[in-house]
Amino acid sequence: MAAVVAAAADLSLIAYGDVVAGCEQCALSQTRTQVVFGSGSPTAELMFVGEAPGFHEDKQGVPFVGAAGKLLGKLLEGIGMTRDDVYVSNVLKCRPPGNRDPLPEEIQACEGHLFRQIELIQPKLVATLGNFATKLLSGKPAGITQVHGREQQVVLGGNPVTLYPIFHPAAALYTPRMLQVLEEDFRRIPELLGREAAPPPPPAAPLYAPEPAAPVEHPVQLGLF
Ligand code: SF4
Repeated sequence: MAAVVAAAADLSLIAYGDVVAGCEQCALSQTRTQVVFGSGSPTAELMFVGEAPGFHEDKQGVPFVGAAGKLLGKLLEGIGMTRDDVYVSNVLKCRPPGNRDPLPEEIQACEGHLFRQIELIQPKLVATLGNFATKLLSGKPAGITQVHGREQQVVLGGNPVTLYPIFHPAAALYTPRMLQVLEEDFRRIPELLGREAAPPPPPAAPLYAPEPAAPVEHPVQLGLF
């Protein structure tokens, strides 16, 4: 029965993704390679919402595939989960040129897609990564530095949802203190999902070792902090 429900949810989400793939509701449709709709389980209890696709995401059509995506995978591993257990998406489904911050009119044009995704997936917990997702889904102006790690009860897509703002992994890539805070906030996710926490990882290896710097074609977005 659960498999039937999952299959139906998957179909609805795929069908909606097909619709969004042709979206031209804002000017980003002119510069994108493709729409980056989202990826993961269509019945996930835990959903992550980031800001917008970057260079690699735009090329591959999948969210969080660059360095920030690798860090997200490591953080999930640390709490006994994988990308297949969760759903990952962004406020904007198309890449802003040069990875600039989303414009208010772009967020306004695209937010309906995100709300529909949440309505179809019905997650229990939505972790907002960084400022843009946090402000949009909380409906409040408080920035991520102020509210990270503090869950809020909201209604999204017609369902009660726990909103959990945390730093964007891209912001933690080059700032050890921010990575530490992100790890601490991440460790509360099992509790917020009502699950047993995973056993702590062995202490020897660092959770994330930054890779050598690549040529800058996708600069870090300051709006993430
Ligand atoms: S960013 Fe959103 S609203 Fe704009 S074209 Fe892409 S899918 Fe449509």
